[in-house]
Amino acid sequence: MAHLTSGSSAAASTDTAAVEHPEVQWTAEQQHFMQLAIQQAKEALQDREVPIGCVFVRDGQVIGSGYNMTNHSRNATRHAELEAVDKMLADHGGDASKVQFHRCQLYVTIEPCIMCAGALSLLGIGQVFFGAGNDKFGGCGSIVPVHQQGCGSCTHHDDPQAAAHGAGFPAVGGLFAKEAIQLLQDFYIAGNPAAPKPHRKVMEVPPWQQAQEQQQRQQPMERDA
Ligand SMILES: [Zn+2]
Repeated sequence: MAHLTSGSSAAASTDTAAVEHPEVQWTAEQQHFMQLAIQQAKEALQDREVPIGCVFVRDGQVIGSGYNMTNHSRNATRHAELEAVDKMLADHGGDASKVQFHRCQLYVTIEPCIMCAGALSLLGIGQVFFGAGNDKFGGCGSIVPVHQQGCGSCTHHDDPQAAAHGAGFPAVGGLFAKEAIQLLQDFYIAGNPAAPKPHRKVMEVPPWQQAQEQQQRQQPMERDA
């Protein structure tokens, strides 16, 4: 299985050649689930959150989904993956063993960061599919190969189960990478409302909302015509 060793900057580059793996034949099911992750990222965009989304799948069923909530929560750890993990834990009585992460596949639009890759390792995730690489913080090969090294030493104790959880996991990227990057570009063009020193003026009405409003204005006229 192909592993990502270098990728384009998730936030700033359209050069996705490095993260596309033409040798990978994505199945219809993989494409379907990544489209659902992209849908989550689109919801984040509407919410003016950094548009990264994910779904967790077990036995062909989505059992968790989420998108970045770092702006609304003012908590930099609220990444899409951890949002979804917390919801799944809540659905399983707070018991991670009942989620059975080893049977789960994660589909996430951008390569998990080092923090999230560490969490996924400790939870014992079965498999990760991601869209675009993350050259700044990627934890599945772009910066630190947590997916190969695991995160077992994080636990600092000898619990055999904890040692099993903390292993590496298979991770492969490039599934709908362009779409994932386009959403980030749309977000940054409109300006990040939570940036401490915005590089660009934050648009009050972002372009995607302007397009929606224009559509809504046009619709009544079309009805009248
Ligand atoms: Zn993360």
